[in-house]
Parts: sequence; structure tokens; C-alpha cells
Amino acid sequence: MKALVKTRPEVGLWMERVPVPEVGPNDVLIRVKKSAICGTDVHIWNWDQWAQKTIPVPMVVGHEFMGEIAEVGSAVTKHHVGERVSGEGHIVCGKCRNCRAGRGHLCRNTLGVGVNRPGAFAEFVCLPEYNVVSMPDDVPDEIAAIFDPFGNAVHTALSFDLVGEDVLVTGAGPIGIMGAMVAKRSGARKVVITDINPVRLDLARKVGIDYVVDASKENLADVMRSIGMTEGFDVGLEMSGAASAFRDMIDKMNNGGKIAILGIAPAGFEIDWNKVIFKMLNLKGIYGREMFETWYKMIAFVQGGLDLSPVITHRIGIDDFREGFEAMRSGNSGKVVMDWM
Ligand code: NAD
Ligand code: ZN
Repeated sequence: MKALVKTRPEVGLWMERVPVPEVGPNDVLIRVKKSAICGTDVHIWNWDQWAQKTIPVPMVVGHEFMGEIAEVGSAVTKHHVGERVSGEGHIVCGKCRNCRAGRGHLCRNTLGVGVNRPGAFAEFVCLPEYNVVSMPDDVPDEIAAIFDPFGNAVHTALSFDLVGEDVLVTGAGPIGIMGAMVAKRSGARKVVITDINPVRLDLARKVGIDYVVDASKENLADVMRSIGMTEGFDVGLEMSGAASAFRDMIDKMNNGGKIAILGIAPAGFEIDWNKVIFKMLNLKGIYGREMFETWYKMIAFVQGGLDLSPVITHRIGIDDFREGFEAMRSGNSGKVVMDWM
């Protein structure tokens, strides 16, 4: 089969011919129809320090995808050939305390599709039956292909009660924008999103986020005053991975505010812990998606009319993958979806 492979420990990815993955008794083989590029894939392309210490070479990469089941293992009972599916890219152990308690997203032995095991930038990807999620007909293919990052947004946004709350989202990347959309739909009062990249700020305006703030030019305190906020934000969604954005968020929270942190900041960055203490803030780290409550909510949001299509800015054939990675590496895209069929 064709697959995008990290074949050599250097910058880039290469289209190669590799064997179709072997299907174990509890596995499902999926013919990939569409896949999307994640920031993680860009790290792997760039072969940065994280990628060098994490990715064994050679590795078929990619974990955002949807497709159709082509084959099922002998012990598979819940899925069938021909079914339209997406899938959870975190493979959990099923043995640890959290897994056994039904909290798979907290598994301490998580393996990543396209990171620690062969991924979805391929004609076929193999997943344990447990990880496969059936896609109803009213979830479009390209939306199903971005359920992994949409799930990050939903998991983060739904970490705290949003009804009537004023919400600050730092970072208007695809996940921040989807998080802001989810917050609004979940009953938030004011939703403010910040970024420093004009392209991303435009995208946030285009999807109709209430207040879009250029953090490189505008002072968030002034913006808050101008929109009638006298106290502070009730809920923060950190989606930028920028230390300065996180510090600004801590500063602008009301006492007792709650912050869900998805953005991956540089190691060892500093925050003012006394502000966390005296404001009595509640901080929660987020990784991946809850299995499978987040997936249930994602399908419900889409079926309820949430339109994520404006977040997809590039739709390309797989043979143009270089163009897709270029768009992602520029920082001036939303989601890039690649067609395999
Ligand atoms: P992205 O890089 O596309 O978006 C981040 C955005 O933050 C960019 O638009 C950037 O311009 C903006 N930004 C940079 N500095 C800023 C500042 N000072 N103030 C406001 N905005 C600023 O990333 P994404 O794909 O949307 O993902 C969001 C974050 O979540 C990233 O940090 C990513 O690494 C992380 N992530 C975490 C998980 C997880 O499971 N924890 C999963 C996926 C992504
Ligand atoms: Zn586990």
C-alpha cells in the first residue's frame, strides 16, 4: 500500500510502498478515505527534538482520519466490513487502575497511532476494535477526518460548566477556534479568543466568535472593559502553548476561575503561582479525548448543527501532500484535509 513514512532521521516525509498492516483477532483494518494534518505531524516532518526522541524510524505517521472498514479480525463482534468509521488514536492498555475504572483517557501506558505504532497517512490503518468509532451518515467525511482535534477542543471546552460563563480562549489555531465554537454553543455568555497571527484572527472572525483580540497589539484588560466585563473570566481554555498567553490568562481570571490547559508550553516556563493561590484558581491539564464520552458529544454537536467546515482551509489530494505540509508549516492555515481515494 501507499503510505507517508518517516523513512530517514531527517526533515521531511516520503511516499513509500509498505505492507498492509497485519490484522490481529481483535483488530479492524480501515481503508482510509480522508486524513488531516496535525501539529504533531509537522513536528515529525520538521524532525525537531521531540520527534527525534519519540519517533522510531521508519514509521508510518498520521492519526487524524476517517474511512471504511475493509477487514475485521476473527474475534471482532461490534463492527463490520463496509462500515464508515473514524477512530481514537490513543491506544490504552486496559490493565492499569484508570483503564479498569473506565477512565481510559487517564491510562499511563497510552500509545499513539502514527507516533508509537503505524499511522493513518496510508491506504490502510489497523486499530483495535475498541478504538473504532462508527460515523453516522449525517457526519460529513471531512468532518469525521478532523474528529481527533475536534475532540481535543470538546474535551477541553466541556471540562467545566459553561452556562452563563465568560470564557477566554488563548490561541486561535484550529483547536482554539473549535473550542470557542463549542463554548458558545454550550451556553457561554461572552467568548473572547486571542491570537497574534492575523490569518488565524481572521479565521476566528469568519466563524463568528464574539470577540477576537490581537494579543500582539491590543491590551486584554482594555478589551474586557470595552465589552462591559468588570470582574474577570470564569473559564479559560489555554489553546496556544504560549507561556505569555497563559500568564495573561491567569491574570485576567476572576477569583475561583477555572482553566483547562491543552496547549503544550515550552518546558520549564514560569507562572506566578501566588496568583493561582490567592485567586483560588482551578487548573486542569487535558490530553486527548475522553473514551468515549468526548466522541459521543462530538457526534451530538455535529448532528445538532455545529458547522466545522470553515475550520478546514485546505482540501487536497494525497499526491499533493507537500503542499499541505507547507500550508501547515506556514502557520497560516486552518485544518488541511487530504483525500486518499
Ligand atoms: P496551533 O499551533 O495551530 O495554534 C496555536 C495558536 O496559538 C497559533 O495560531 C498561534 O499563533 C497562537 N499563539 C501563539 N502565541 C500566542 C499568544 N501569545 N497569545 C495568543 N495566541 C498565541 O495549534 P493547534 O493545533 O490549534 O493546537 C493548540 C495547542 O494544543 C498546541 O499547543 C498543541 O501543541 C496543543 N495540543 C495538545 C494536545 C493535548 O492532547 N494536550 C492535543 C493536540 C494539540
Ligand atoms: Zn491503561
